[in-house]
Amino acid sequence: MLIIKRDTVVYAMSPDNVPAAHARSGDTLCFETLDCFGGQITKPTDRMGQLDWSRINPATGPVCVEGARPGDTLKVEILNIDLAAQAVILEAPDNGITGLAATEEQIKLMPVVDGKVIFNEKIALPICPMIGVIGTAPADKAVSTGSPEAHGGNMDCKRIGAGSTLYLPVNVPGALLAMGDLHAVMGDGEVCVCGAEIGGAVTVRVTVLPGQSLPLPFLVTRTAAMALYSAEGLDAAAEGVTLRMRQFLHETVGLPAHEAGMLLSLAGELCICQAVDPNKTCRMELPLALLHNCGYVFP
Ligand code: CA
Ligand code: CA
Repeated sequence: MLIIKRDTVVYAMSPDNVPAAHARSGDTLCFETLDCFGGQITKPTDRMGQLDWSRINPATGPVCVEGARPGDTLKVEILNIDLAAQAVILEAPDNGITGLAATEEQIKLMPVVDGKVIFNEKIALPICPMIGVIGTAPADKAVSTGSPEAHGGNMDCKRIGAGSTLYLPVNVPGALLAMGDLHAVMGDGEVCVCGAEIGGAVTVRVTVLPGQSLPLPFLVTRTAAMALYSAEGLDAAAEGVTLRMRQFLHETVGLPAHEAGMLLSLAGELCICQAVDPNKTCRMELPLALLHNCGYVFP
C-alpha cells in the first residue's frame, strides 16, 4: 500500500502544489497526518503565542490520481482512521464562538485510552474519528487549508469518518488530494474551533468517476447521504446546501421538484458542521433508505 508520510504536507490546496505521490484509480493509500497544530503543542503550559502559525493545519499530500481530469469526480472511500495516543484542545479569547466569553487561554491534553478521550476525572467521551481537512485542488487559486470551499478543505464535518465515502470535484489534472486535521471526537459546530485535535493515519481507496452527477462535495455514510456546502455566513451555507440537495433529488434522483423540497422538509436534517472557520459549513442529511426507495444507487 502506498503510504504518504506526514513530512509531506501543504498549507493550501493549490493547482501549483507538487504531488507528494502518484496513485492510480482504484488504489488504496494511507495518509499519515499531523494534528492541526503540526504537533507543536505537547504540554498544557504551551501557549498559542509560542506557535509557529505558518505550520497550522498541515494537510498531507497532495496525491496525484492518474487519469483524473477536470470535470471528473474523485470518489474517496474512507476505509480506516487510526489515531495517535493523545489529543489536544484549546479555548482562548476571540477564538470561535466560546471565545467570545473566554477570558484566558487554556490548553488541555487528553489521552485516548480504550476507545475513549479522557476529558477529565468524570468525563470520558467515546472516540468518533473524523477528518477535518480533506479536499482537492481548486482550479485557479490557492485556498488555505484553514478554509473550506467548493473543493472541500477545512469542512470539519463529523460525518467524514471510517465507512463513509466522500465525493470531491476534480478541478485540475490528477485532482491533487490532500487531508489532515483529524479529530478523535467533535460536536457539530466546533464551537471553540477545536475538536479533539490529533495526529493519525487515514486509509482510503480513490476512484476516478467520469463527469459529476452529484452536488460536490457529497458524502455517503452507512445510513445517510448528504451534500456539504460552505459559504461566508451560516445562512448562506444553510440555503446553499438545501437547494443543492433539492436539485439533486429532482434532477438526478428523479423526484418531482416540489416533492424534493417537501421530502427535505420532512426527513432532511440540516446540520451545522462548523460555525467557526473563515467560511461556515452546513450539511443536509437524508436517510439512505429513502434514496434506495427511489431506485437511486450511488456511483
Ligand atoms: Ca478544522
Ligand atoms: Ca481541527
